[in-house]
Amino acid sequence: MAGPCFAKCWRSGALLLLVVAAFWGCKPRRATTPTPGMDAEPGHWVRVLLVDDVGSCTVKFSSSFEVIGESSDLQSEPGRRLFEEPGASTEIALSGGKITVAGRPFEGGHVSIRPEEPHVFKVNGSEYRGTLKVVIDSGAESFDVINYIPLEAYLAGVVGAEMPNYWEPEALKAQTIAARTYCLYIKKRFGGGRAWDLTRTQAHQVYGGVGAESAQIWQAVNQTQGRVLVCKQPDGTEGIFPTYYSSTCGGHTENSKNVFGDSFEPLAGVRCSYCKEVAKPRFYFWPLAQFEAAEVTEKLRQRYPNLKELGQITDITVAEHSDYGGFRRLTKVKLSGSTGRSDFLRAEDLRLTVDPTGRRLRSTMCEITKSGDKWLFSLGRGYGHGVGMCQCGAQAMAREGKKAEEILLHYYPNSRISRVY
Ligand SMILES: [Zn+2]
Repeated sequence: MAGPCFAKCWRSGALLLLVVAAFWGCKPRRATTPTPGMDAEPGHWVRVLLVDDVGSCTVKFSSSFEVIGESSDLQSEPGRRLFEEPGASTEIALSGGKITVAGRPFEGGHVSIRPEEPHVFKVNGSEYRGTLKVVIDSGAESFDVINYIPLEAYLAGVVGAEMPNYWEPEALKAQTIAARTYCLYIKKRFGGGRAWDLTRTQAHQVYGGVGAESAQIWQAVNQTQGRVLVCKQPDGTEGIFPTYYSSTCGGHTENSKNVFGDSFEPLAGVRCSYCKEVAKPRFYFWPLAQFEAAEVTEKLRQRYPNLKELGQITDITVAEHSDYGGFRRLTKVKLSGSTGRSDFLRAEDLRLTVDPTGRRLRSTMCEITKSGDKWLFSLGRGYGHGVGMCQCGAQAMAREGKKAEEILLHYYPNSRISRVY
């Protein structure tokens, strides 16, 4: 094992060990394993948007690193430069329309930054693996920082952020296969038209980098290496699909068509008698959530400017709901306004607009009523959008002795496990 401090310091003596450890901000004992898969083919890498639309950011490498400008060739300087001050904070900024690294400008619209083994670095204090790309935004007034990382190393940073690492190994393995499939699907569907494949937030799947890793999570990743879920595609061929998942379905998972608008056989919704065994009662049944009517109108107008035509929103009624025999989820709402106009919105969009954290308005398996100048969301069940695998349900199934494959085929029926490599 060669850690960012440990390996370097072992070679250079105890004094340097203390100095490097102090700069790097970690205890000398701690060792980060080298990043596996750095020689993987490009199709097995992922591009994660780490920092969006900023004028500067701080990176810190545990090893030497090379910066390569867009217009550089192998010989040219200053298009390519080696930095050999491991542990030092390095500022990335914009100056005169050019990206600067530690004050040195680089030509072109982007630069690649490649650290040596163990290929680990910090961006704004959080630790990640792989390499970095800095891309100037259109208008040349800000830039994005994108993490290029081998898929399996990426998953180690996702699964530990999406599920507690002390959960059952088979639940962690099911989560890993779902996260791998989801990532590859989003990359294939949307990655071609932009400089990155996924964000690091709940908008896609939460990516915590090295800080989310643990031995249990790496075991789940390694034991499922390259495994994904496939199903029949609309054109009749077989392929991956968006294996959505969420915390607690509340008794029945939702048809993806009603939430995300896409139709795949494994995403039609299934009964889940499991999550109530694992979810805390206050998450399985969540307490009344109240929001000021004026605040709801304001948030909706900001997110959907066309709703300004409605004036103040005076009524929110259920336009459509799913019904799975005792489990009802709001899927579409009708918004009526003081101008007499009305419009429709997906219930999940209403939920995440009114409460972007989702911590109070935890699902659309609830009822909406008005009381005075407040909107009340009551009789709530579950946590999250409810599509695909129910994470608490997966844990309950694993506790009962079910294998990862059984868990996945329960939540994604009519799919099968396949290998991409
Ligand atoms: Zn469930």
